[in-house]
Amino acid sequence: MMRVEYLIVGYGIAGATLAAELRGRGHSVLVLDVARPDSASRVAAGLMNPVAGKRFALAWRADELLTAAGAFYRAQEQRLGQRFLHELPIVKLFSSVQEQNTMLARSADAPWLDFVTDATGELPALPGVQQELGGLRIRRGGFVLVEELLTALTAEGLAAGWLRHETFDWGRLVADSAGGFTYAGRVQTRHVVSCEGAATLQNPYFGWLPLTPNQGEVLTVECPGLPSATVLNKGAYVVPLGGSRLRVGATYRWPPFAAGTTPEALAELSDRLRTITPQPFTVADQRAGVRPAVRDRKPLLGTHPETPGVHVFNGFGSKGVMMAPRLAQVMADWLENDVAPWPEVNIRRYLTLYSPPNSGPPASPVSRP
Ligand SMILES: Cc1cc2nc3c(=O)[nH]c(=O)nc-3n(C[C@H](O)[C@H](O)[C@H](O)COP(=O)(O)OP(=O)(O)OC[C@H]3O[C@@H](n4cnc5c(N)ncnc54)[C@H](O)[C@@H]3O)c2cc1C
Repeated sequence: MMRVEYLIVGYGIAGATLAAELRGRGHSVLVLDVARPDSASRVAAGLMNPVAGKRFALAWRADELLTAAGAFYRAQEQRLGQRFLHELPIVKLFSSVQEQNTMLARSADAPWLDFVTDATGELPALPGVQQELGGLRIRRGGFVLVEELLTALTAEGLAAGWLRHETFDWGRLVADSAGGFTYAGRVQTRHVVSCEGAATLQNPYFGWLPLTPNQGEVLTVECPGLPSATVLNKGAYVVPLGGSRLRVGATYRWPPFAAGTTPEALAELSDRLRTITPQPFTVADQRAGVRPAVRDRKPLLGTHPETPGVHVFNGFGSKGVMMAPRLAQVMADWLENDVAPWPEVNIRRYLTLYSPPNSGPPASPVSRP
């Protein structure tokens, strides 16, 4: 029988940051993950953008999240001897005069000033880029090569034995008399943490949480002549991957959506790229994944209302890369020291959606010996 303090289910960016945080604090961890090439984290372009959206809103807790994310990804680079984090300016190209006016007005004020380099809207000429309405350069953002990071971390975990490629079957989790659990008759643990991304919708403990899957697609294109050290953003983001290779994303589809890639997304992203550059391009790859989105756009951290050893770390929507490292610390503080997660991310905010066992489904599904 293997004994660990924490059994983590799922190894996307959520499971990876939480496992690293708990292991870094000296805890024993076992991760079970079915590595799927279409998991959100492996498809994501890895963008970290502190100022985003049509309303040019400053991302929630941008400063704190970016600081922790930068430290986490740099630490992994040092340990693994590979580069993952590319801190690059993000050029927001204006697509209308109205957008130009809104963004220029906002960018002149604190706290945007911290994140915008030149609030005049007059960009230096960027090769191959259509920039007739100008734009703003956003700093402190960039992108992370998430798939490369997860591949390296997974190889490390497999070699050391703290990660296994295996589907976790929640029906085989049995509570023991000492307040812990036995999984499939071969792992004993005090805590099980669901980091299953959109698959949490099928989780018997957490299916009541207001998680909505949101499908996204990205393209990898070959397009010579664009800036190699700038992320471009105008309806779509364009991330330089080296040479003439770029990642272009992303689409957003609410259910019902088709599984896998679609010709509609190919057309939509190609059209958006054409508004950014007149350069010819070829599409080398197209991928789709499903974001674990939440109604209020805040993650879901906490513990099952009636089963104290079963927890959830999820709901990262379209911003997992930037949010997960800091929130893994918040989650570890909860698991280790009983420091409650921030109210904005604590699943207790949705407790009214939970039905206790005697008032209809879903009941706590753990089997008692
Ligand atoms: C097209 C697209 C583009 C995106 N671009 C960005 C971006 O630029 N920046 C950004 O920050 N975010 C982006 N995102 C969002 C980001 O990908 C998510 O916020 C993040 O990846 C969610 O991570 P996660 O670990 O919660 O889930 P996932 O990445 O889905 O990981 C869950 C893992 O758990 C495994 N799993 C599930 N159930 C089980 C089980 N029972 N047993 C074993 N394993 C299980 C899955 O196979 C998977 O490996 C994008 C998403 C998409 C789809």
